[in-house]
Amino acid sequence: KGARIVIIGGGVGGATAAKYLKIFDPSLRVTVIEKNRTYIRAYGSSEVLNQHSSMDELNVSYDALASRYGVNFVFDTVTGFDPQARTVSTAGKQILTYDRLIVSPGIQLLYDAYAGYSEAVANTAVPSGWIPGAQTALLAKQLQGMRQGGTFVMAAPPNPYRCPPGPYERPALMTEWFMKHNPTAKVIIVDPKDSFVTDQTMMLGWNRLYNFNLPEDYIKAMSPEVEIKQHAKPGMLNWVRGKDGGRPLRVDGKNMTIEIEAGVIQADVINVIPPMKAGQIALTLGLADKNGWCPVDRRNFASTLQPNVHVIGDASIADAMPKSAFAANTQAKVAARAIIEELAGRPAPEPFWENTCYALAGKDYGLFVADVFKVVEGKIARINKARYLPLEASAAQIKLAARYQQAWLRTFTDDCFA
Ligand code: FAD
Repeated sequence: KGARIVIIGGGVGGATAAKYLKIFDPSLRVTVIEKNRTYIRAYGSSEVLNQHSSMDELNVSYDALASRYGVNFVFDTVTGFDPQARTVSTAGKQILTYDRLIVSPGIQLLYDAYAGYSEAVANTAVPSGWIPGAQTALLAKQLQGMRQGGTFVMAAPPNPYRCPPGPYERPALMTEWFMKHNPTAKVIIVDPKDSFVTDQTMMLGWNRLYNFNLPEDYIKAMSPEVEIKQHAKPGMLNWVRGKDGGRPLRVDGKNMTIEIEAGVIQADVINVIPPMKAGQIALTLGLADKNGWCPVDRRNFASTLQPNVHVIGDASIADAMPKSAFAANTQAKVAARAIIEELAGRPAPEPFWENTCYALAGKDYGLFVADVFKVVEGKIARINKARYLPLEASAAQIKLAARYQQAWLRTFTDDCFA
């Protein structure tokens, strides 16, 4: 009988690892332990807020992984393990034995990082939704029901965080929605940071679609070839950077105010994306360092802290690779290949990884960052030069990028789960 591989977390990383392990070697006994019977995908979840998608459309079934590939599922919550006996234990008092353990638990949100904020406040008044679910539905309801002329404030997270372009796509999609349904609304991003990946292409989109005026230092940094029209009357979308006092300090869910370094903002709807670290189970199993993320041998994503364990996805430390679904998917394939080779006593091939994060500045305004990575001096490094949709891209290319984003949501989900 084949080796026993147990996978904690049936999200992007865990599901992909399970599928590809069974494709590479059908004799392996692969078991995924997952809390929820259905996966709710985070990627694409901001599109529920602007009514481009429904909550139901975020649900992904595990049926194909079980029936087509023979992956076993245990729907339970992992609570501990014994690395010597190589067993994992669950809240439901099950004990599973493994030869190799893959851990892909995603993130946990540090609600307590801001004064006045907590998981209880997030569940009832000031949702986050960065792990999708009931908070996503609550936020959608609040935004779509916001009073005419109301103010929506979104607090962007500090680095490192899940989905680098995500906190900028979300307010852009809401600005587009408000222009139609609530044209006197105001959207404010408050941010502890001064920049983000895809910032130039994203802000160029905001400039064209929402009369957003780019900060002067950004205009200076762009080539003079790029035509940027600054607007006498700036539009409804605003971005308060860290250097302008954008760092969030305190959230008051009763009075709907958020305090940032620059002062207190009265809002109608607040969405906080708090700081984050690896999913709690990674910390419980002793897989995380003092910063709350999991160090790994970059060649195969084997934990450097516990034997016979691999950590992939958002929870892992992957240097230049972002915490994205695309990254979790390629990390899963690399780890699966490395495990197969190691069990067979063969050396693992030199790994390469890819990542493409598509993002929308508007429904028909797409952009992306696309990278290729390999290990350089023990760290994962980017080896490509061009990364972004060019600033000079034509209207047709921009629209095509939005179509690619929608196509990616479908084909990518199939690659992980079907
Ligand atoms: P997850 O997919 O979160 O999976 C973790 C799983 O582990 C969950 O199912 C959870 O229930 C389970 N789990 C955790 N603890 C336990 C336990 N103790 N026992 C049992 N099960 C457990 N990425 C992109 O590439 N492109 C995008 O366009 C994109 N857009 C995004 C938009 C938004 C709004 C957000 C929030 C994220 C977006 N992402 C995007 C990021 C992407 O969703 C994550 O990077 C990806 O899901 C990470 O995969 P993972 O396997 O690490 O974690």
